[in-house]
Amino acid sequence: MSITAFSFPTEIQFGIGARRLVAAHLREAGYQRPLLVTDKALATLPILNEFKTHLTGLDIAVFSGVSGNPAASQVTAGAAAFSRHGADCIIGFGGGAALDVAKLVGVAVTHPGDIIEYAWDHPAVRTIEHPVPYLVALPTTAGTGSEVGRASVISEDDSHLKRVVFNPKLLAKCVFADPELTLSLPPHITAATGIDALTHNIESYLSPAYHPLCDGIALEGTRIAARALLTAVTEPNNLQARSDMMMASMLGAIAFQKDLGAVHACAHALGAVCDLHHGLANALMIDTVLAWNQPEVPAKFDELAHVAGVAGGGEAFIAWLSQLKAEVGIEGGLSAHGVKHEQIPQLAAIANQDLCHQTNPRVCTETDFNRLFSAAM
Ligand SMILES: [Zn+2]
Repeated sequence: MSITAFSFPTEIQFGIGARRLVAAHLREAGYQRPLLVTDKALATLPILNEFKTHLTGLDIAVFSGVSGNPAASQVTAGAAAFSRHGADCIIGFGGGAALDVAKLVGVAVTHPGDIIEYAWDHPAVRTIEHPVPYLVALPTTAGTGSEVGRASVISEDDSHLKRVVFNPKLLAKCVFADPELTLSLPPHITAATGIDALTHNIESYLSPAYHPLCDGIALEGTRIAARALLTAVTEPNNLQARSDMMMASMLGAIAFQKDLGAVHACAHALGAVCDLHHGLANALMIDTVLAWNQPEVPAKFDELAHVAGVAGGGEAFIAWLSQLKAEVGIEGGLSAHGVKHEQIPQLAAIANQDLCHQTNPRVCTETDFNRLFSAAM
């Protein structure tokens, strides 16, 4: 028997109005000058100003230079903003991109060199050895679950290749998960991010790694997301559905410390080559890849069908996923979303280099990725 380490350390304040607790939390912890890291689009919406009205007794500066699939230069700009403000802590406020940048700003202000050099697959990877600034995180989407994750995904500015920085020091000290922050998400973002959350739960459960704690969390996350996603899309003001999706998103991200699979390897390639939204990219691949995985681990697919409330076992579960995609408005294959046939070899090569598929339940080669991308066109 080998020894396995299990770790679930993040404090989470979960519920409607949790955002109002941030100021008192930071003041009590001895902090006064937060840098609020958020994305460009969010900075123009009332939601940010509303949140700022709750940050009483703090001297805040806002860095809103996060956009798209975030690049390393955005982290550098955030670190400069931290220094200019003389900040003593960081508030991450936004979707996965803003939260990932917020985590890395903390590394950039305390460590030398380029932030890309801290990615786990960098040929001369540097160690995150120093303490990083106190970080609290508020998700405004329900998808990546980055608020409870110990990883940040960042793109190289030139190549757009996605790199992952992974370290427990990236974990937020406290998460304020407030479903009201997701009420203004448009349906197509609710759908894409929600499918991402569902995919995290499904892929981590399917990964062959030994982690019964994560397996239990992943099954519960699948159950909640399966029940809530369609309602969150069709009834945007349904706070119970929004709350359920925020929880499913966190459960997915806690579960995927176990690992992900080939759906995410494909999605990362689609982000790098075609700049597709991460959740949409997962949605466009999930049923094709899972149908290919299913014969390898049929009992696990039957269990997924069971928790999702789908009668008919694993094959019916995949058919249900395809139907769910259509019901939440994600129509067409890769080609309908701008992917060209001539891009498939490049997509397959990048997906094959992605570490995620090493824990796919079925061994996946570059040839397999070529077939899967072709099938999903
Ligand atoms: Zn994802």
